[in-house]
Amino acid sequence: MRFDGKRYRDCRFCQGRGCLYCEAEADRAYKRAFPDGPKPMATFDMTTPEGAAAARQAIGREAIEKAFGAGGGGIGEIVANIAKVQGEQK
Ligand SMILES: [Zn+2]
Repeated sequence: MRFDGKRYRDCRFCQGRGCLYCEAEADRAYKRAFPDGPKPMATFDMTTPEGAAAARQAIGREAIEKAFGAGGGGIGEIVANIAKVQGEQK
């Protein structure tokens, strides 16, 4: 994942060193990647304890509150969460 919640590696303003524009740049890149609007970013097998736990870790209430709360990484953080747990599932 290119966005770690603070710095966006492809940010054209800071080249990934971290700046005020990183989140906006990451959001823009996300919208470019998903031009048709929100789509399911991940599938979780909710019939297994592992799948349900992964879903909770990535997109559960606490994860959402953290990502969109003070100092959170916004949608980039959620995407990173999903990439992380999906990586762990494989
Ligand atoms: Zn930046």
